[in-house]
Amino acid sequence: MISNIVRTRFAPSPTGYLHVGGLRTALYNYLFAKRNNGKFILRIEDTDRARYVEGAIENLISTLKWAGLYFDEGPGVEGEFAPYLQSERLNIYKEHAEHLIKEKKAYYCFCSQERLNELREKQQKEGLQPKYDKHCLGLSKDEVEKKLADNERHVIRLNVQPGENIIVDDVIRGRVEFNSDVVDDQVLIKSDGYPTYHLANVVDDHLMKITHVIRGEEWLSSTPKHILLYDFFDWEKPVFAHLPLLLNPDRSKLSKRQGDVAVEDYRAKGYLKEALINFVALLGWTAGDDKEFYYLNELKEKFSLERVNKAGAVFNVEKLNWLNAEHLRKKENSEILILLKEELSGSKYKNQNYTDEYLLKVIEAMKERVIFVKDYLEKSPYFFETPGEYDESVAAKRWKDNSPELMKKLVEKFQKLENPVKEDYENTLKETAAELEVENGDLIHPLRLAVSGIGAGPGVFDIVDILGKEESIKRINKAIELIPQSSTIKS
Ligand code: GLU
Repeated sequence: MISNIVRTRFAPSPTGYLHVGGLRTALYNYLFAKRNNGKFILRIEDTDRARYVEGAIENLISTLKWAGLYFDEGPGVEGEFAPYLQSERLNIYKEHAEHLIKEKKAYYCFCSQERLNELREKQQKEGLQPKYDKHCLGLSKDEVEKKLADNERHVIRLNVQPGENIIVDDVIRGRVEFNSDVVDDQVLIKSDGYPTYHLANVVDDHLMKITHVIRGEEWLSSTPKHILLYDFFDWEKPVFAHLPLLLNPDRSKLSKRQGDVAVEDYRAKGYLKEALINFVALLGWTAGDDKEFYYLNELKEKFSLERVNKAGAVFNVEKLNWLNAEHLRKKENSEILILLKEELSGSKYKNQNYTDEYLLKVIEAMKERVIFVKDYLEKSPYFFETPGEYDESVAAKRWKDNSPELMKKLVEKFQKLENPVKEDYENTLKETAAELEVENGDLIHPLRLAVSGIGAGPGVFDIVDILGKEESIKRINKAIELIPQSSTIKS
């Protein structure tokens, strides 16, 4: 064992946003470290200058923190192995590449892009796998020194020995074998002096004492190169765990074209971090029972790499929605109140003052009917504004010729109530129906339409009680004026 303390890392490249697959990788690394009382490290792999995006690092860090995945070491949380930005470690990679050159495990290559293109074309024509032909390995020591002294453009390449069997022992995928014949003499240091992913990744995993490399399956094909590097440096290898691919429901690879892939898009849509974390935790892992609802703290207790599947994991938005509704419902009303106020402050209702007492009643009435916090506004706008329009199909069905008259009678009765509670409205309506010899429904349905403008929602007496006597009466009177007789409504 490299270290008896488990150390995992999330090693994103700052190319823009955090992908949901990246969030899963970060989460599994975090959970595995926490489950084993270890450390979770954030390392920024920013050596590909062409792909660097301004602000991407800050965005990555704030998204991880939003999700609750706090790292023990990383940019801004400097630890023993700082710096954690690869662009600040260039000398380290250079020294390591030079060490490999001395050991003849790597060599300088001065080939022009033109020659490399020609070589590739020729190999392709011959049906061979495109691979560097070790041309520069044949240069003499003097030739190399002269070219270096002349500042000739060069890279450093890995000297892969053909005909070897390279074994990757993966916790999730088992034993995977590669033949070194298919491994190219990978560039380790590019002509701009920056290391490639392979060199920087292996050097840092070793120096940062990473014990478990947990990453997406797309990196499995790079692992033989990494294994060679570990062997060339004579370093102990970490444990490898390659996580299953994320798939669209049609089992194609999860892509931007079929939907959102950025964590920030889900955040902007109103998904709760608890739901998103719960959802990505299940993309490839189960505890082995039917339980699907988890908080981060429970996951920390339960997670194990042995229970990660190798089959691709389907990204099912309906399940995410279900989890969002569940997590929202399980929150204390006082917590939902904070979220609802935030939502209101960003909405067209921002200048209206609602009391906490009022909002808490709305929350209680709608709790079982919402998926997102914004649904409180979208599904029950009538708690925030007097309806100006009435659902036509509901009106056609429910607003009968005698409805205006029945509603007038109900208004008269409601007027007489003093400090009514919900049951008072209900009893009054039933008494009125009995008196007028009509069904309760003949009053209930028009009443719902009048106070809410629509035909569905919580119990109508809850709505009336929340709105209060004056507001409800005002709304019934307005509806009597505005809703045409059923005979004139087209359905
Ligand atoms: N920088 C790589 C990425 O962007 C890291 C892959 C790995 O974890 O080794 O995902």
